[in-house]
Amino acid sequence: MTLLDFLPSLQHAATTRIDPTVWPLTARVDDLGRLTVGDVPLTDLADQYGTPSYVLDEKDFRRRIRDYRALVPHAEIVYAGKSLLTPTIASWAAEEQVGIDVCSEGELAAALQGGFDPSRIVLHGNAKPPSLLRQATAARVGRIVIDSPIEIAFLACETPRPQPVLIRVTPDIDIHGHAAVTTGVTDQKFGFALANGQAEQAVVRILKQPQLILAGVHCHLGSQIADPELYGEAICRLIAFMADIRSRHGLTLNELNLGGGHAIAYRSGDPTLHLAELSATITDTLEQACIAERFPKPRIVIEPGRAISGHAGVTLYRVVAVKTQPGGRTFVAVDGGLSDHPRTQLYGAKYTVALANRHPIGATQTVTVAGRHCESGDEIARDVDLPTDTHPGDLLAVACTGAYHHSMASNYNMVVRPPVIGVHHGNATEIIRRETVEDLLARDVAWQKRHRSFDALLHGE
Ligand SMILES: *Cc1c(COP(=O)(O)O)cnc(C)c1O
Repeated sequence: MTLLDFLPSLQHAATTRIDPTVWPLTARVDDLGRLTVGDVPLTDLADQYGTPSYVLDEKDFRRRIRDYRALVPHAEIVYAGKSLLTPTIASWAAEEQVGIDVCSEGELAAALQGGFDPSRIVLHGNAKPPSLLRQATAARVGRIVIDSPIEIAFLACETPRPQPVLIRVTPDIDIHGHAAVTTGVTDQKFGFALANGQAEQAVVRILKQPQLILAGVHCHLGSQIADPELYGEAICRLIAFMADIRSRHGLTLNELNLGGGHAIAYRSGDPTLHLAELSATITDTLEQACIAERFPKPRIVIEPGRAISGHAGVTLYRVVAVKTQPGGRTFVAVDGGLSDHPRTQLYGAKYTVALANRHPIGATQTVTVAGRHCESGDEIARDVDLPTDTHPGDLLAVACTGAYHHSMASNYNMVVRPPVIGVHHGNATEIIRRETVEDLLARDVAWQKRHRSFDALLHGE
């Protein structure tokens, strides 16, 4: 007999705890009221690996890629590694046969270690250090996305063999009021502006370099874009640009990369980009724009990051303290915070939190889930409903933390970073282990000379 047999209404409460548009594909509530992901109770993971921990649903990650393949069949998919990348995750993406975006030596190494064919690697960045450009050409990456004139000069001299490149342009599409972060407008650091002829000048410079092969055009409008028409607008502007290049320079480019930024729901009801709508918009707009410019249809490439890795991740925290302040707000403080969960502080992002270790019986109250760091802005989620009896020792799960959490985590306050635990078909695998205090000390040159474990330090040895 479980509690559900006595209280059938709990079943309803249990299922409504897990909105499938927010939580990982395999998230469930078991008979004991515990949240499970990948058929593993989160309480078991917390017991085995400690808290805070990032949990990653491998099935969810792979399914998102397959959804792109099924619903946007005419586009090539390149996974934006900056959202979440480890060698293991790179290997999942490689097995799902997508390409990968990298923008640093670490991401390049993770992609190669994960088994990526270098020809499927795309190198991005507005300030790629010369060493990174050298490493990328040595690895024979498939595309380097040119972002400034100096890169053209440098690559032309340094690449040991002809290097395919894309040119990143800013189509001047303002997604403000539509989405969270804007990069496709002219007044920012990325790319070459279409409007004032800079993009065309860059094309001319690339064409003069026999070692550079201009494969096509790239743009990235920003993040959390839910309106497919913005991508349609980008297609119109970029096809017009490609038609201009053809008429002035006799070169017909064959690749149009629309970047990423596809919106996902962090909370129930958040606007999301529907892939079928995106696909229809791409197909229709491309058709019309190419007819209007009498231009042959180029290959379309898209670069989702968050929309592949975001929902797969859940962060586990242990409640450490609960208190109600004189202002009336109740704070549920946990054993992590802005070091492992930076987006609330950075962007005012809003998250979904659930009690993970038991049935939430009885009344709920609206609380702020706060972190452990020495910053008043260290909040994980404000105004979330948790049971009034939430107490130290309870386990909380925060949804939608697969993207830009592990990859943006810091050691602020000298806290160790959480492990990444993969779950799949009832099994848990440690993908990244928890950092240790010794890891934190390891780069200190004096510590290297007089090596003492944390334990030895505690005991004055
Ligand atoms: C960040 C980025 C992406 C991915 O953005 P998401 O919001 O995670 O989809 C894709 N392309 C480029 C060039 C980026 O900088």
